[in-house]
Amino acid sequence: MENDTLLDVRAVGRSFPRPGGSELLVLEDVNLTLNDCEIVGLLGRSGSGKSTLLRIISGLSPPSRGSVSYMGHAVDGPANGIAMVFQSFALFPWLTVLENVQLGLEALGLPPKDIRARALSAIDLIGLDGYESAYPRELSGGMRQRVGFARALVVHPNILLMDEPFSALDVLTAENLRTDFLDLWGEGQLPIKGVILVTHNIEEAVLMCDRVLLFSTNPGRIVTEIKIDLRQPRDRQDPAFISVVERIYAEMTARRGDHAAQRKERFPGSGIGTQLHPVSANLIAGLVEAVAAAPYDGKADLPDLTADLQLEVDELFPVAETLQMLRLAELEGGDIKLTHMGKLFAEKDLNGRKEIFSRALVSYVALAAHIRRILDERGSHTAPKSRFFDELEDYMTSDAAEETLRAVIGWGRFGELFAYDDETAMFSLDNPR
Ligand code: ADP
Ligand code: MG
Repeated sequence: MENDTLLDVRAVGRSFPRPGGSELLVLEDVNLTLNDCEIVGLLGRSGSGKSTLLRIISGLSPPSRGSVSYMGHAVDGPANGIAMVFQSFALFPWLTVLENVQLGLEALGLPPKDIRARALSAIDLIGLDGYESAYPRELSGGMRQRVGFARALVVHPNILLMDEPFSALDVLTAENLRTDFLDLWGEGQLPIKGVILVTHNIEEAVLMCDRVLLFSTNPGRIVTEIKIDLRQPRDRQDPAFISVVERIYAEMTARRGDHAAQRKERFPGSGIGTQLHPVSANLIAGLVEAVAAAPYDGKADLPDLTADLQLEVDELFPVAETLQMLRLAELEGGDIKLTHMGKLFAEKDLNGRKEIFSRALVSYVALAAHIRRILDERGSHTAPKSRFFDELEDYMTSDAAEETLRAVIGWGRFGELFAYDDETAMFSLDNPR
């Protein structure tokens, strides 16, 4: 291992047991290194295993396979020198800012005088000077998050792991904190040697990181590494910045199709075990309309569209992916392009849209076709949700099965393919064949 390697993650895999006794594979063959003076980004959709990986790296949870070594030593429990910043912090409401930050140090067994001095300097560093004796309830969300940063930095960790630390903040507050963090990092004022930043925000990754690792979903795997050679401070309007953002969009959309194809198929189309995103029919129709209309006229660049519709990437991808699955649109190279069916959908009135949608469901969403077939076959034309839930649990976690059923119920209702009664949790047919 090179001297400047802080962290070495080798062939890490992680699975979790499922109720039925099978295993859910969340991470597969993850390899990464973090070098001295680097900020490395892990970019992936929610549910791709990013938080799981960070917990493994920090020693909070063991990998099922592979190993993690930190400055040449195997990590096999919570590692000193690795600290974590979370999306939001559980600050103790009855403790002041200073006391909350000092908590981070208690395990180190320093003299009280040093504890106080270090906590004060961390508070000062992160821009909370003057708030030492304030209570969390007196602070804004952004300031509370700064307390979280101070609590992580006060131990002078070599490595800082950040799990979507800006995603719970409003846009301006997040940008302020990012800028302050990057300034301190650039000036060498932070008592850390390297950073891993987990995010689902492409621009944030391009703004902050020296390298970005793209994470696939199901299982989480690193599919590409993108080096970002732009000088700091970076400018979001810089054509070179925009071109990196575009490239990442292209990579992220290119991988989606591959994965669907790799899944085991028991039914034609997307496979009954495909996890579905509960995006509403309204959102689906909205996106088709937006792409069909000027200035796009049927084909849009995803970054432009995200900005135009004021959506987050994490909100746009599930909708775009759903359109792709329904063959209303194709995703390629960071673009979304309506198919012939997609264009027809945009032109039709509500009934015409329902018809197209219903046909697409039967043809391309195996679970929807499966539910419809069962309802057609049964004399009562009804079936309990639990029946399908049990089937889905062979393929996914119970949370994912819930979401998938929520998705198919919404779409089935819109396409009038079947009805569903929330009270009795029963599927039924309005129009049996
Ligand atoms: P991300 O941070 O990328 O959103 P996570 O690492 O939180 O993803 O979760 C990835 C997957 O692992 C999810 O499907 C989640 O349900 C599953 N998972 C995470 N922790 C556990 C656990 N302790 N038991 C079972 N499944 C888990
Ligand atoms: Mg997470």
